Amino acid sequence: PASEVIARRKAFISQRQARQESERRAIQLQTAAEIARETTGTLSLNELLSRAVTLMSSRYGYYHAGIFLVDEHTNQAQVRAAAGAASVELLDQEWSIPVGSTTMVGYVTQTGETLLVNNLRTEPRFQPHPLLPNTGAELTIPMKIGERVIGALDVQSEKTEAFGAEDASVLQVLADQLAVAVDNARSYEMANQAFQQARQRAQEMTLLFNVSQALASAPMASEEIALIVTEQFARVLEVPECSLAMLYSDENGNALRVLGAYGSANHPKQNRLNTSYFLADQPIVHKAVQSLQPVVAQAGDDTLSKDAQHYLRKHGIQTLLAIPLAVKGEAIGVIELTSHQWPRYYSADQLNLAMTLANAAAVALENARLYEDQRQTAERLQEVDHLKTQFLANMSHELRTPLNSIIGFSRVILKGIDGPTTDLQQQDLTAIYSSGQHLLSLINDILDLSKIEAGKMELAIEEVDLNDMINSVMSTAVGLTKEKPIELERNVEPDLPLVQVDRTRIRQVLINLISNAAKFTDEGFIRVSAHLQKDASSNPEIWIGVTDSGPGIEIDDQDKLFKAFSQVDASPTRKSGGTGLGLSISRHLVELHKGQIGVESEPGQGSTFFFTLPLPNTEHFELPTLNIDGPVILSIDDNRQVISLYERYLGNHNYHVYPLTEPEMAIQLARQMQPFAITLDIMMPGQDGWSILQQLKQDPETRNIPVIICSILEDQDKGFSLGAADYLVKPILEEDLVHSIRRINQDDSIHKILVVDDDADDLRLVQKILEQEGNYIVELAQGGQEALVRLEEEPPHAIILDLYMPGLDGFSLLDTVRANPRIRDIPVIIFSGGDLDEDQRKKLAQAGQEILQKSLFTEDELLSTLERSLRRFAQSNQTPVL
Ligand code: ADP
Repeated sequence: PASEVIARRKAFISQRQARQESERRAIQLQTAAEIARETTGTLSLNELLSRAVTLMSSRYGYYHAGIFLVDEHTNQAQVRAAAGAASVELLDQEWSIPVGSTTMVGYVTQTGETLLVNNLRTEPRFQPHPLLPNTGAELTIPMKIGERVIGALDVQSEKTEAFGAEDASVLQVLADQLAVAVDNARSYEMANQAFQQARQRAQEMTLLFNVSQALASAPMASEEIALIVTEQFARVLEVPECSLAMLYSDENGNALRVLGAYGSANHPKQNRLNTSYFLADQPIVHKAVQSLQPVVAQAGDDTLSKDAQHYLRKHGIQTLLAIPLAVKGEAIGVIELTSHQWPRYYSADQLNLAMTLANAAAVALENARLYEDQRQTAERLQEVDHLKTQFLANMSHELRTPLNSIIGFSRVILKGIDGPTTDLQQQDLTAIYSSGQHLLSLINDILDLSKIEAGKMELAIEEVDLNDMINSVMSTAVGLTKEKPIELERNVEPDLPLVQVDRTRIRQVLINLISNAAKFTDEGFIRVSAHLQKDASSNPEIWIGVTDSGPGIEIDDQDKLFKAFSQVDASPTRKSGGTGLGLSISRHLVELHKGQIGVESEPGQGSTFFFTLPLPNTEHFELPTLNIDGPVILSIDDNRQVISLYERYLGNHNYHVYPLTEPEMAIQLARQMQPFAITLDIMMPGQDGWSILQQLKQDPETRNIPVIICSILEDQDKGFSLGAADYLVKPILEEDLVHSIRRINQDDSIHKILVVDDDADDLRLVQKILEQEGNYIVELAQGGQEALVRLEEEPPHAIILDLYMPGLDGFSLLDTVRANPRIRDIPVIIFSGGDLDEDQRKKLAQAGQEILQKSLFTEDELLSTLERSLRRFAQSNQTPVL
């Protein structure tokens, strides 16, 4: 039985061993699985490795566990993670072992073979590490990617004979998994680094682009600049809040006023906008302003000054970046980027870029300040000007009112309405009456002249038939010559072209010339002539002259006639009265019309006073060809640079800008060109925008063209009352103009659009684009057959048609539509996937179809093409009412 007992015990022990063994294996596998799981989800390489060793040493009860990775540059295996005894010290020392050295790790990392020493104390080749004196057994497993050894997994036990082949194979599985994870993590880190770098570059470029474009576009108010700058800095540097403050001094010292704030700095609760701070209370900003260098302050950095640390704590700021704004070496303000939640680190590149941009912003802000100063001065001058005009208006009223009584009552008495008068009284009253008349014309002249000299003479330009005007002036002139033996003659070319002039003023000039002739001519004739002068070298013009058989004028005297207050015979004893203002005023009026005035005369041979009125030269202008892409905007501004700006703005949105710097051409060009819209400046030399607007709105041919006033004047009421579609005050930003035009573009009415295509995706795409606009009802027809049914039901306002469809294709559908009088005028936009040949293209274009190439068109293109088609259709007044 003893042997039986022994046998049973043996069996029991071996059973227990087997059970323990399988338990151990279960734990090992479980741990391996756990580590494998960890490795897939772990964030960083270091974290992954240290979790792996910690798990291993705690589960398996190792004395020590370590992971070494081979650094290819130094050829050293460096401990990257360790757990158990001495792990902290070894990690601190950055324990590294030369690959190939006579250590277990050195051997394994060189050979790539597993090494197991079950009794290190008796092993002659390898020594335990001095910090791990108790090691009994040590197992070192290579970590390999293919044949490449990237590191080693090393476990140590205090017991000898602690490891078997089983342990080696389980740990090998783990080591392989770790190797893959390490490799993945490394390539991920590399890719990520490259990605981060690329992203940062892209961000920097965006910032640079946005800011420089915004700053370069137009003179902007400093608030606008501050807004753009803060927004761009915050967005691209990914900082939650940014503010921009300008430096100023008052009696209490230097201070900052916040000009722009973005992000939480602009939050209503902590809105910093327009608040002021003493510079002395802002230690970090102060430093940036003084040093003219960016200053980054991190909370918890004890190298910061006490003040700065206190400041960050008090405001709960993690990171504050202060960038000085400097012009010519002098700080004018500061940009502040603050992060409250998390610390934010800036690379040297980012700081450099921030400085460059801050410099650009500083220059723009300085320019804005200068511009604002200028504008204020201009406004003050305008005020003075306004007073002067007011004074003139008052004076003329004050002077004319009493004269009115004098002239009026003397006339009443002269006419005998108040009873009979004696001859003597008649004589005296006549003197009063004609003196009154004289004084009145004198006052009128002086007022005219002062208006002209103040630049306040505004012309009310309209289309005038000169034949009519000359006739009417001559019929009133009969009265001037009826007491003298003078023949009034007329030599006017019939059918003179219409001119764009101020009717009253040109009439005034003509009357002045005729009455001068009548005044100085005693007998003979006065002849009014007019003809069209067409000279190849100059613009066509109309010539109008008044010839008399009077005394004539010496050559030497001729020049001064047109100067104010000058008369040939200035002696008090001269024959004819007068102020010497008539010709001077006439000259100004003619010149305001861009014409010329002059005289041809010889003493004893009579005189010819003449003036010219220029006609717009149509050949001079090349009208844009009609197949230009996108709608045409006629931009009228005397400053070509302003138009260039609009060109740039609108070019981005597929509008073609036609520049016009000569306002006189506006009406004619608008008529011929029929632009989609007009942008109109108000203050232009020669002709002001108001009169152009008036004429455009009076002319049935141009009445419907929307006019957007773009002026520095703020007179919206006047603009809208004259019929402007919109009113923008300069400086104008891109989005202002584009929005304004888009608004015009969008007819209020809802249009029904039928989209025909065999491809369901294309249908959906077009539907999406159109429905976003909000003023389209979109109907879809998948294929030509379905389209025909839809067309029968209720005709749409426009059709967007794919050409190539199975069954009834676009060409046939088009033919069917065109053959049906009910629907034949509906505009069709061809939406073609395939290339059209020249013939097809021509045929479609001739039939008035707009053609869009599928997959090449932009959303804007589709919308504007549709808008254009609808507009054209609406203009022919056949819009079916929905
Ligand atoms: P006034 O009010 O004195 O007529 P104007 O400027 O009209 O002022 O004319 C300036 C001067 O030019 C006249 O005073 C006269 O000497 C001369 N003048 C103008 N028209 C004629 C003319 N048709 N024949 C001769 N002299 C003329």
